[in-house]
Amino acid sequence: MSDSRPNDVSQCQSTPLRTKLKETRIAKLTEAGHVESDAEYEPKFFPADVIEVVLSRDAVKSVLGCLCDRCGEHANYLPPSYERRTIYLDYVMSDALKLFALLVFMEHPALIGAFVRQRKGDHILDENLKRIDLKNTYLTEIESNSRLTAVEIRNLLDSFLELCYQFSPPVFKGSWFEEWDPKTALPFINTTYIGEGGYGKVYSFQIYPGYKRFVYGDSVSAHPLLHYIVVLKVNRIKTKFAMKEVGLAAGPIGCLNAEAQNLSKIRDELEDEKHIIKVLKIFRRGQKIHFIFPLAEGNLADLMSKPWRHLPTSDKAICWNSIWDQAVGMLKALARFHSPPEQARWRGYHSDIKRTYYLLE
Ligand SMILES: [Zn+2]
Repeated sequence: MSDSRPNDVSQCQSTPLRTKLKETRIAKLTEAGHVESDAEYEPKFFPADVIEVVLSRDAVKSVLGCLCDRCGEHANYLPPSYERRTIYLDYVMSDALKLFALLVFMEHPALIGAFVRQRKGDHILDENLKRIDLKNTYLTEIESNSRLTAVEIRNLLDSFLELCYQFSPPVFKGSWFEEWDPKTALPFINTTYIGEGGYGKVYSFQIYPGYKRFVYGDSVSAHPLLHYIVVLKVNRIKTKFAMKEVGLAAGPIGCLNAEAQNLSKIRDELEDEKHIIKVLKIFRRGQKIHFIFPLAEGNLADLMSKPWRHLPTSDKAICWNSIWDQAVGMLKALARFHSPPEQARWRGYHSDIKRTYYLLE
């Protein structure tokens, strides 16, 4: 495709793409099954697949060549001639597409030059930039080369810093404790409050496709209430998770750290034990700690309330039913928890065994 100057210079080439980013985001969330989340967890993120669909190579090329007044003001961040601007195209496509999407969404796409000429790309979205860093490191000429007032420039910088979280949601991988900014946009959909756990709230949720790379996958059942035993495998639910959210004000940080350490220890030293829950992720986000598990379908109390659905018929011994194998497996797991492998430098004490803590997958 040869470079061609856009005819209409009154409208920025980024404006229709901003609309397309919004519309495609809604369509993709719906396609992923999102219906509704509790207000605090309503999705705010722009997934990578939305950005890739909207910002095709041709679209990026077209915006890089925009000749609108605003892009003209920021032209100092890009090479002076229109024809040369597209030399930035390859770098944007390979290393700075999310950053460019953010600038397109803000309708200031020519600012991309400020970052690309320093070989900075998407990774700066995760750098916890402050306003002063953004201005003095990247947008050094923003005051001298635009007609914006000081207040407008400050609003522009703040808008960038607010939006950068939405264009860079974290991928859920690894299983260790991480600390994220409270503004971090979690790639969750259908996040629904399901009850109170010790010290905090429990939610069920799903993770948007492409943002889930847990070490332990979805094959182990778990429960939102931080308990450890699975008794019966009925149906696997591979896509739903449970999150316990604990405010730091609700419990002493030492207790929460101890809980996190215990869950990590159990996960690592009894990783082959299918009847023991594995925590998938623990992270701190501002003043809250979040524990992530696969979501269990029910518990032993549910099962006992409708025994006729699961127990053997009267002419068969109980050991003929699969529940027998699961119950024995669960008891062996419990024994192992209380007397862990030889190399383990710990010993478990459950101390609070009751029907609701035996979980069903
Ligand atoms: Zn423009």
